[in-house]
Amino acid sequence: MIGTQRTLGVGPPGSALLYVIASPVGPYYPTGFKAISLEATTYAVRAWPGGVGASKLGANYAPCVVPQMQAATRGFHQNLWLFEDVDPATGKTEDFVTEVGTMNLFACIVNKEGQKELMTAPLDGTILDGVVRDSILALARERLAPQGWKVSERRFTMRELGEAEAEGRMLEVFGSGTAAVVAPVRNISYKGSLINCGLPEDKEVGPVTQQMLDWISAIQYGDEEHPWR
Ligand SMILES: *Cc1c(COP(=O)(O)O)cnc(C)c1O
Repeated sequence: MIGTQRTLGVGPPGSALLYVIASPVGPYYPTGFKAISLEATTYAVRAWPGGVGASKLGANYAPCVVPQMQAATRGFHQNLWLFEDVDPATGKTEDFVTEVGTMNLFACIVNKEGQKELMTAPLDGTILDGVVRDSILALARERLAPQGWKVSERRFTMRELGEAEAEGRMLEVFGSGTAAVVAPVRNISYKGSLINCGLPEDKEVGPVTQQMLDWISAIQYGDEEHPWR
């Protein structure tokens, strides 16, 4: 949606054009999944409480280009956006995980209670409320929870991911968004160390990531009767 009023200035437009571009798309991964490497960005933030990070505004994307290009020069496919804040549980400053590039992020771990947990950051105004995020949460609550999974929209930190990896509790990490549906993550570079996200070296995708793609594709392509169609 763009303002079309014939004046130059900052203010609400008196007229605007809402337009929709429709186009056919091919498979995002024509030769199968390729797991991506992420670089956690610690010198810039994408969004903040009270800001407009929850909206798909052009203004949210231009500032992401340079951190993305810098991550690419170091060999990473995408950058991971963090938000530094005090953790009320410990009183310490932590890097909270928010989103990856222009995708929402999901992590699967075995939590400290020994339960498998699928988690993603909550909609606190700093997270884009993606339709694929919402779909994955709904499918997980319907189909993974009965298998014993805990499904969480909650804040989590880089420290928690690092501990899960160190203690062998990291299962898999993936991004979600309309273009790719899901994007498996191999590792995350953070403050000089590389956190391995649980994929075996000879695998490009983990079982939950693959399952989510299969479930969502079956609904999109009409292989499964579903109210979302
Ligand atoms: C578009 C977008 C997403 C994914 O949203 P979908 O509706 O699932 O495509 C996630 N994060 C950001 C920042 C985005 O721009």
